[in-house]
Amino acid sequence: MGRLDGKVAIVTGAAKGIGAAASGLLAEEGAAVVCTDIDVPAGEAVADAIQNNGGKATFMAHNVTSEDAWEKVAAHAVDSFGQLDILVNNAGIAPPGAPIEDLELDAWRNTIAIDLDSVFLGCKHGIRAMKQSGGGSIINISSIMGIVGTSNAADYNAAKGGVRLLTKVAALECADAGYGIRVNSVHPGFIDTPLVRNVVEEGVIAGRMGSANEAIELLTMLHPIGRLGFPKEIANAILFLASDESSFMTGSEMVVDGGYTAR
Ligand code: NAP
Repeated sequence: MGRLDGKVAIVTGAAKGIGAAASGLLAEEGAAVVCTDIDVPAGEAVADAIQNNGGKATFMAHNVTSEDAWEKVAAHAVDSFGQLDILVNNAGIAPPGAPIEDLELDAWRNTIAIDLDSVFLGCKHGIRAMKQSGGGSIINISSIMGIVGTSNAADYNAAKGGVRLLTKVAALECADAGYGIRVNSVHPGFIDTPLVRNVVEEGVIAGRMGSANEAIELLTMLHPIGRLGFPKEIANAILFLASDESSFMTGSEMVVDGGYTAR
């Protein structure tokens, strides 16, 4: 307890899955957390639960593709809590899969906007706010799909690969400028969240997968550890990168994937 005492964090996509777990854990460790999401009722419920648990949290409606919204969220963190120390760029979507030859340009652009442009905007406004606070830690949630390719996910792979290298550039720029801001990426394997359950459901409806159970079994087989991950296991990695325990890490990629990419 207390690994983030006195720190102020923004977590995007905080309403569910990895973002909800990270918001709860950062708050348990002493951070004041600005939870943001497009899902307002679920996001408010996460912030309320943190407060009911004795933690500090607020919720803001926030579409991560909007630069105006980013300016407001960063200002809200500083106005409400005096500074910004931690930013978790987590919000994202897993689009329905399609081979490149069938992928519509609009669908490609939508994925790039939500999964990559958002992280650029978060880094931009996070760096501006954090340098006023004398430093901080930015954690960008990429994926194993930012490291290895997979068929029928060109838009998601490209966005998550982009997050991986964007992270390294942001880390170098912050180090060169002497801002005291560290920037790292996290690369989860398949984690049991609403996002994965939706992918499975869509796959079953489209006839790409037999049944939800079969699909989960197939996904499980891709992880040598023999199961999907839990949101808390990604939240633990985020906590480590947010805390001073990772003080010599910047521009690095933390893979948390049950061995998926080890083969
Ligand atoms: P999730 O359960 O779907 O939660 C993501 C949250 O982000 C949802 O509340 C979603 O709202 C919100 N969101 C979507 N678009 C947004 C936007 N434009 N602005 C603000 N919020 C938005 O997803 P998750 O599984 O926790 O994933 C979190 C991150 O981890 C994503 O970046 C994902 O790509 C990455 N990741 C996940 C896995 C996995 O297996 N779960 C693996 C690797 C990487 P709606 O539900 O209303 O869309």
